[in-house]
Amino acid sequence: MGPKTLRFEKDFAKYIGCKYALSVNSCTAALHLALLAHNIGPGDEVILPAFTFTATANVVVHVGAKPIFADIREDDFNIDPSDIQKKITPKTKAIIVVHYGGQAADLDLIESIAKKHKLIVIEDAAHAAGGKYKNELIGKRGNTTCFSFYATKNLTTGEGGIITTNNSKIADFITKNRLHGISSDAWKRYSKTGSWRYSVEYSGWKYNMTDIQAALGIHQLKKLNKFIRQRRKLAHLYTSGLRKIKGLLTPTEIPDRYHPYHLYPILLENFDRDVFIQKMAEKNIGTSVHFIPLHLQPFYMKNFGYKKGDLPVTEAVFSKIVSIPLYPAMKSKDIEYVAETIKSMLS
Ligand SMILES: *Cc1c(COP(=O)(O)O)cnc(C)c1O
Repeated sequence: MGPKTLRFEKDFAKYIGCKYALSVNSCTAALHLALLAHNIGPGDEVILPAFTFTATANVVVHVGAKPIFADIREDDFNIDPSDIQKKITPKTKAIIVVHYGGQAADLDLIESIAKKHKLIVIEDAAHAAGGKYKNELIGKRGNTTCFSFYATKNLTTGEGGIITTNNSKIADFITKNRLHGISSDAWKRYSKTGSWRYSVEYSGWKYNMTDIQAALGIHQLKKLNKFIRQRRKLAHLYTSGLRKIKGLLTPTEIPDRYHPYHLYPILLENFDRDVFIQKMAEKNIGTSVHFIPLHLQPFYMKNFGYKKGDLPVTEAVFSKIVSIPLYPAMKSKDIEYVAETIKSMLS
C-alpha cells in the first residue's frame, strides 16, 4: 500500500461523488469490515438475499451473527422489500442489499423500512460499479457500500475491493482495521515522511490493497464508463434478438435504474437449463448460473436449518436461470452468434 493506492481511492471517491473510498484486497474483506464497523456480532440477525455469491453470507457468519435469507422479486431478482418486512425480529440489526447483476435494488423503499426499524443498510455492490439508482451512482447515498474488483467484475484490479461511505467514524474504523488496527498512516512507516512509531487501536486485519493493484485500478476507472456503455449496447442487442423467442425471458430493466449489465441472465421457461448449458458448451459458448441459492447449500442447511421450499421465488428463478456471455470486448457478431445458437436450440 502506498501513493498509488491513495490516488486510486481519491479518484474513485471523486467518480462516485462520496466522501470516503477505502480500498481493500477483496469485496469479501470490504463486507466483513462493513459489518464490524457497524458493530454487528453475536446475537444479531442480518437480513440478506439467498440469491447471491456465498461471500455475502459467509461474512455474517464470520462476525458471529445469523444470516436470515429473504426472497427476491421476480422482475429484477433483487431482495423483496415485503419479505424483508416479514423477517424483521427484535434481533435484526442490518440488511445487506445485493444489486443483482448491477441493477439497483429499490433503495428508497428499503431505507424507509430500515429507518422505521432502526436497521443499518449495507450495500453489496460487487456487480454495480457504474450502476445508478435514480440518476445517482451506487455508493453515493451514504450506506456503507462494498465493491468488488475481482477479475470478472465491471472494473478489475485482478483481486480487490473498495468501501464507500460518507461517515467519518465508519471510515476511520475501516482505515485502521484494514491494516492491523494500527494508526491510519502506518503504511508510511518505512518511508522518509513516515514515522516508526505507531499505536495499535484494534486487533485488525491484513486487508489492504497494494499499489500494484491500484495501478491497474486507476486506469480501469478511466475506462469504466466506456466499458458500461459497451455492455449496455451489447445487452440491448441480445434483448432485441432474443425477446421474440417463445419460452425465453430477457432481463427486465426497471425505469430509473441505470443498469451496468455486469450479468445478462435469461430465464428458460420450458427447456431444461442444465441441458441448455451443455449444448451451449458444445457450440463453444460459455455460460454460468448466478446463483445457486445459499439456503440450499450444505453449510447453511446444516448450521441454520434452511430447507427447500423456504424461498419460493428464489427457487423458481434458480431452476430456470442462466447467464450468457457478456463483456465489453465482445463484437456484435459474437452476440448474433450466441443469439442465433439459442434461437435454433429452442425452436
Ligand atoms: C464477486 C462477489 C463478491 C465477492 O467479491 P470478491 O472481490 O471476490 O471478494 C461478493 N458479492 C457478490 C454478489 C459477488 O458477485
